[in-house]
Amino acid sequence: MKKFEVIIIGGAAAGMSCALVLGSAKNKPFAKNKTIGIIIHQKASALASGVFNNVLGLKPATTGKEILEDGKQQLAETYPHVVQIEKEKVLEIQGESEDFTIITNKNKYHAKTIVVAVGPSNLFNISGLLQYVEPHQKLPVAKKRIQLKNKDHLITNGIYVAGVLAGWRSQFAIACGSGASVATDILTKWNNGQPAMVHDKIED
Ligand SMILES: Cc1cc2nc3c(=O)[nH]c(=O)nc-3n(C[C@H](O)[C@H](O)[C@H](O)COP(=O)(O)OP(=O)(O)OC[C@H]3O[C@@H](n4cnc5c(N)ncnc54)[C@H](O)[C@@H]3O)c2cc1C
Repeated sequence: MKKFEVIIIGGAAAGMSCALVLGSAKNKPFAKNKTIGIIIHQKASALASGVFNNVLGLKPATTGKEILEDGKQQLAETYPHVVQIEKEKVLEIQGESEDFTIITNKNKYHAKTIVVAVGPSNLFNISGLLQYVEPHQKLPVAKKRIQLKNKDHLITNGIYVAGVLAGWRSQFAIACGSGASVATDILTKWNNGQPAMVHDKIED
């Protein structure tokens, strides 16, 4: 069974943002040798049918499909040590913090920490997480969306939720920010509780 320090489930706005920030810490001593995986099942992403005119840094009329494809490429080219596991759907999570098993429709993986970023669909059916499901608090009731109970993104020891599934309203920038926020929480944990961020800057 392939082993990871952290596995992100869901490869769209929140999941990819989390993976990029975690990947960007590769030169920090506390992140050395930390194995990161992301399970990228993109079929059900809200991005798939969207067109984006209101996102800082994106050219107006960028399609969600482009964001999904470009995101995978950015991650692969910039942080190739982050393992992209494509076209697998997570069915079940077993175990506890430091010792999770993630079961997909094709494989099993081991992870110490999990980030769940699979969107707010009421078809959510990942076994092992169903006890945390509750109605979404910030989306129209008629849409019947769900969120996972959490405190500042933490569901329980070792499991974080990110994106709209964490209870945020559905805007691309909010979902990305939520994923990035979880990444910095994990980096801070790796850094023995000292606040951690990753900022690249222009060389003089
Ligand atoms: C038509 C439309 C237009 C939009 N336009 C805008 C806009 O103009 N501006 C804006 O800011 N926002 C817009 N949005 C909202 C924006 O797309 C969402 O807020 C954002 O995509 C949410 O990101 P997320 O990562 O939380 O969830 P998602 O993007 O939904 O990603 C969830 C990911 O998890 C994967 N997944 C699901 N189940 C599993 C599983 N069991 N195992 C593994 N992976 C799984 C899915 O396939 C998907 O890739 C629009 C949304 C729609 C639907």
